[in-house]
Amino acid sequence: MIKAVMGNLEKNNMRCFFAETKEEALAKILDLVPENSTIGFGGSKTLEQVGVFAALEKKKCKILDWKRADSKEENMEIRKHSLLVDVYLCSSNAITRDGKLVNIDGTGNRVSAITFGPGKVIIVAGKNKIVENEEGGVERIRNVAAPVNAKHLGRKTPCVITGKCMDCASKDRICCTKVVHSWQKTPGRINVILVDKDLGY
Ligand code: SF4
Repeated sequence: MIKAVMGNLEKNNMRCFFAETKEEALAKILDLVPENSTIGFGGSKTLEQVGVFAALEKKKCKILDWKRADSKEENMEIRKHSLLVDVYLCSSNAITRDGKLVNIDGTGNRVSAITFGPGKVIIVAGKNKIVENEEGGVERIRNVAAPVNAKHLGRKTPCVITGKCMDCASKDRICCTKVVHSWQKTPGRINVILVDKDLGY
């Protein structure tokens, strides 16, 4: 199944790599990131599990990590500057069998960066992110990823209690902008590392 998804991502002009383990995924990330790059990030449990942050520190890269900001203002500035980096690292909420990325953001910085700006985008995703189609991707986000993520972030949304999307109007809502990346105009700008493990939400 993973091979079929990889083939379809390639048909959509995204480069795709297979990693059997988190360690292999990390080695591939380091291979894809040139020394002295400026790097931005989307919030990602997968990247934390892969251990990417400590590894990149050693690679003489300039890291823009909004999670390390001291204030809300600085946090937003880092997110904005992250749209102009050399390399942007994140995961995808879902990847369809026919090679599309399905994501829903709260702030929108991640889907913006995947779409336009950074010279190279590296997406790391476990096999648990593979879904049948776009509808399956949205279903996965609303009823699997978002409730767990909202809980992790300490948000007071109804899905934290019910475990499924209630299409809330909460000020804490984390699902605001849905973007599907299909065929890409710039071949190889988006690089997907598919890991043969369950990772992230
Ligand atoms: S829209 Fe609201 S209830 Fe639905 S998954 Fe997102 S945060 Fe949770």
